[in-house]
Amino acid sequence: MFELVHKDTRSRARIGRITTPHGVIETPSYVIVGTDAAVRCLEPEDIPKTNTQAIIANTYHLWRSLGDEGLANFPGVHKEMQWNGPIMTDSGGFQVFSMGASREHGVGKKPQIADRKSLIADEPVEKGVVRVTESGVYFDDPSTSSGNNNGEEVYLDAELSMKIQEQLDADIVFAFDEPSSPLHDKEYTRDAMERTHRWAVRSLEAKTSLQKIYGIVQGGTFEDLRKESAEYIGALPFDGIGIGGSFGSSFGSSTENTLKELEWTIPFLPERKPRHLLGMGKIADLFYGVEAGIDTFDCVIPTREARHKSLWTSRGRMDIGKGVHGTDGGVIAEDCGCPVCADLRVERRELHQMFKIKNPEAGRLATIHNVYFFNDLMSQMRDALREGRFGEFKGEYLGRLAK
Ligand SMILES: [Zn+2]
Repeated sequence: MFELVHKDTRSRARIGRITTPHGVIETPSYVIVGTDAAVRCLEPEDIPKTNTQAIIANTYHLWRSLGDEGLANFPGVHKEMQWNGPIMTDSGGFQVFSMGASREHGVGKKPQIADRKSLIADEPVEKGVVRVTESGVYFDDPSTSSGNNNGEEVYLDAELSMKIQEQLDADIVFAFDEPSSPLHDKEYTRDAMERTHRWAVRSLEAKTSLQKIYGIVQGGTFEDLRKESAEYIGALPFDGIGIGGSFGSSFGSSTENTLKELEWTIPFLPERKPRHLLGMGKIADLFYGVEAGIDTFDCVIPTREARHKSLWTSRGRMDIGKGVHGTDGGVIAEDCGCPVCADLRVERRELHQMFKIKNPEAGRLATIHNVYFFNDLMSQMRDALREGRFGEFKGEYLGRLAK
C-alpha cells in the first residue's frame, strides 16, 4: 500500500506513494476535508481543478445525518461525492469527544473530556457530557437537543465505527480511539491510551472489508506514553498510522507541543507504514510535520477559512472582506496557478463585492483558490525534498510569512 520513494538526508522527511483502489496519493500530501461527503461550497467538477489527491469524510456527521436506514442504502462515498479519487473516513470518535466537550464548556474553551468517576458505570448520560466506558462512548447529541432538554443519547464503539465506515466504503478507514486532551493528567491520559489500544485491537477484529485501516497513536503530552503507544500501535497489523491528540490552540495545545509529541512518537513507528497527522494543517505545521516524518495531513483550514473570506497566498493570509480590496483590480495572487487566479483572473474587488452581497459563488471561488494553494504548497515541498533543498525551502518560505 505504501512505497517509500525517497528519504531526506537531513531530517525525517520522506516522499512516498500510497496506493488505493481509487488511485495514488503522492506524499507528503494534504487530505481535503469533505465532512458530509461533499467539499463545502464546491461542485464535484470543481475538485479536480484544485489538484486534490485525497479527501477525508466525517463518519460521525454522515452517521447522524443518514441514520441506520440511510446508511444501509448509502451508495458509498465515491458515488455520493461523484469523485473517483482516494477517500478516507475518520473513526467518529473525535467528533463525539470534541462536540461533547465544546457543548459542556463552550467552543474554544479548554475541554474536560470525561468524568472519571463514571468511567465504568452504565448510568444515564449527563446533559452535554461524554461518558466513556470500557465498551464505548455515550454521548448526548447536541444537534437533537433544545433549550433545557437533553439531546438524543448516542452510543459509539469500535465495532459500530467499523460497521459504519464499511457502509460509507472509503478506501482508508481509522480505528476507533479516545483522543486525549492536553489538560488531562497523566493517570487519565494513560487510561485513555490503554483503552485506545484495546479499541484498536477490537477495530481490527471487527473489520471485515478489504478497506485499508490506520491505527491511532495517543499518549497526550507525555513522552513515555507517546513512545509506548507508538510501539504498541506500530506493532499491530495496521496498514498505516494516525497520530492523534487534541491538537490546535482551541484545545490548549500549540505547534510546539505537537512537534514535541511527534518527536516522541515517529522514531518508534515502523518506517514502511504511512503516517497521518489528524486535524492539523497550518502552513508552519505542514513544514514542521513533513520534517518530522508525517506523510499526510487533514485540516479544515483551506475550506473553512475560504468561507470566512480568508485567502492564502505565498505571502500569508489575506482578508478579502477588508475595504482596501474593494477597489483592487489585481487577482488574488499573481504567482497562483489556480483557475480563479490564472484562468478566470477574478479580481480582488470582484470577489470582495461577491462576499459583500453574499453571492454563494464567492465561497466557491475562494475555496477553489485555497484548496489549490495548499495542494500546490505540498507539491512544492515534494519537489524540494526530491531536489534535497527542503530545509532551505522551509526557511525561505516561513521567513517570508513571518515578515
Ligand atoms: Zn489562486
